[in-house]
Amino acid sequence: MSSIHRYKVGRIEITPLLDGDLDSSLDRIPDPTDRAAAVKLIEAAGGDKALTMDCFAFLLHLPEGPVLIDAGTGSMMTARLGHMHERLAEIGVAAEDIRTIYLTHVHKDHFGGLVDADGRCMFPNAEIVLHEVEAAFWFDTPPEHLPERARGTLALNAKAFGPYAGRIRRVKEGGGAPGIAARLAPGHTPGHAAWIIETGEAPIVAWGDVVHLAALHLMRPETAMIYDLDPATAAKTRRSMLKWVAESGAVVAAAHLDSPGIGHIHHENDHYRFVPLAAS
Ligand SMILES: [Zn+2]
Repeated sequence: MSSIHRYKVGRIEITPLLDGDLDSSLDRIPDPTDRAAAVKLIEAAGGDKALTMDCFAFLLHLPEGPVLIDAGTGSMMTARLGHMHERLAEIGVAAEDIRTIYLTHVHKDHFGGLVDADGRCMFPNAEIVLHEVEAAFWFDTPPEHLPERARGTLALNAKAFGPYAGRIRRVKEGGGAPGIAARLAPGHTPGHAAWIIETGEAPIVAWGDVVHLAALHLMRPETAMIYDLDPATAAKTRRSMLKWVAESGAVVAAAHLDSPGIGHIHHENDHYRFVPLAAS
């Protein structure tokens, strides 16, 4: 039996596609105070397993056809990852049928599945849509002006996006398509964006990497990890997004929250809690 569920939020149906998981580590937390707090939080959350990050892409079942939010890791990371295309096959969606892929940001765990190991295009009919700030940072900045860590991934960017030349659409804040709008959520990368999906009820907020580790960031949003290019801005974004989705009742579709990756964020005392959606 397939473990893949489709969720209904208002008029929208959405399927989380588990690409796989990866291990994080407390040494990804540079600040000693943050790390000391994290040791306790991880311990309280069950130890090492709380350091494992699920990686999700999401499929929206729209009347005009299926649409992806992010594209999995493809062959760019470990063998535990790169299974998004199998998930698509399991639910009977052909890559050829995907016309639009909305990227939250330009990191390989979100774009790697655009191509196979040999760099061949996996979505021959798809347009890639991303926030213009993100596109400008990765595609227009002279390499010598990029932070060193960002420079290290340029070869992978070229491999993944090369086959989509002429099919990459940059959108302004609020742009996207009717019912799907980009909202800048910077810090993780400069143009990291959430996709806000209208449902007729509470919106779905596909927020990419606002949260890396639930056990840390829902309990202590200020915890800086090396994944964020600008940790202070990322922490500010994390706080404001958590507050907003908790108060508004929005449904979060998160790349790295625990399975099924979709649910509500509740505010409890001094922290937040992820409450997964029930499968419909
Ligand atoms: Zn990520």
